[in-house]
Amino acid sequence: MLRNSMHLPAPMLSEIADTFGTPLYIYNADRIRQQYERLDRAFSGTRMRVFYACKALSNVNILRFMHGLGAGLDTVSLGEIRLGLAAGFRPDDIIFTPNCVDLEEIITAKDLGVNVNIDNISILEQFGNRFGDSYPVCIRINPHIMAGGNYKISTGHIDSKFGISIHQLRHIERLVKSTGIYVKGLHMHTGSEIMDTDVFLRGVEILYELAEHFPRISFIDMGSGFKVPYQPGEPSTDIEELGARMTESFNGFSKKFDHDIELWFEPGKYLVSESGYLVASTSVVKQTTATVFVGLNTGFNHLVRPMFYDAYHSIGNISNPEGTERIYTVVGNICETDTFAWDRKLNEVREGDRLCFYNAGAYGFEMSSNFNSRLRPAEVMVENGEAKLIRKRETFEDLLRNQVV
Ligand SMILES: *Cc1c(COP(=O)(O)O)cnc(C)c1O
Repeated sequence: MLRNSMHLPAPMLSEIADTFGTPLYIYNADRIRQQYERLDRAFSGTRMRVFYACKALSNVNILRFMHGLGAGLDTVSLGEIRLGLAAGFRPDDIIFTPNCVDLEEIITAKDLGVNVNIDNISILEQFGNRFGDSYPVCIRINPHIMAGGNYKISTGHIDSKFGISIHQLRHIERLVKSTGIYVKGLHMHTGSEIMDTDVFLRGVEILYELAEHFPRISFIDMGSGFKVPYQPGEPSTDIEELGARMTESFNGFSKKFDHDIELWFEPGKYLVSESGYLVASTSVVKQTTATVFVGLNTGFNHLVRPMFYDAYHSIGNISNPEGTERIYTVVGNICETDTFAWDRKLNEVREGDRLCFYNAGAYGFEMSSNFNSRLRPAEVMVENGEAKLIRKRETFEDLLRNQVV
């Protein structure tokens, strides 16, 4: 169990679960604030803006909280844009970075007034033909290799469906020339869980070189990829080191322009992962010939990361924290193998005990489903010590709502 101060204490999590029932997602707003402020502080020496990537967790209360912190919003669908607007973000503070959507969706985003990030040549051409320089756009680049250099960065690989290849620079330039399209920003999002600050430094240098071809740009967007620890002792991106190095580098770059240039980031996981908990109850402790299973009243319909990404989540028995440690295999109640953890050491688990999954804020509820016709959990947000319901538990009526009989 992760027992450090960044986490809500087990008795508090237990008490909240008593009030709202299980399975339950709980988010600690203070942790989100700490993460946001840490990032902000690390880049205080340059013009940096944070756009929260809300596909990690899009409850409108979380979005409002982010807005209150001063963040912008990174969105990947019209639904996310509309949630952002409903949460109070101005269109200007929203960037739309979809992948493989049609022109119509891009035009709807334009009509909503948000920053539009284009990630393929075909759309760039159609958008340029239609709107010329009347609506600025950002271009998502897939860097593959160092511009002018000869070594690969490990992410942004050649088979990726994301972005416009850096090798298509000539093509982009021709389109800019023929359509007059106004390129306002350059973007890259090279992947997830990047630990080495060198990767960001090399990435941004690629965009610096590209920027020479687009003199009207006003921002460089470095996407995300910040790694947070999921296991005790696991390393994470050194935000302070990254901040110091990028600040120096970016301030040097900005001097080449006679207008202000901003550096944007789009963290998702970094901001919300550690804020979140999934609390479930033990339905059965099932001894088989080889294993002791803990069967929970949740499953991959609520938290799919362990099965989908082989992700590790710390698990704690919050209702028997002093119990003797034993080895268990923790599984869900879905009729398909849904193992959360094999051979995990937990304080003795009894039927009825509550187990807590830590770091469940990012891509937890957000990727949940109604598989097996089970209901999605409620969500609770804790702010200044007060727990508030921010999403009701689903009911049977929700399952039938859109079915036509
Ligand atoms: C998913 C995504 C992010 C956030 O990634 P994290 O690993 O959660 O920080 C940022 N930008 C874009 C374009 C994304 O698709």
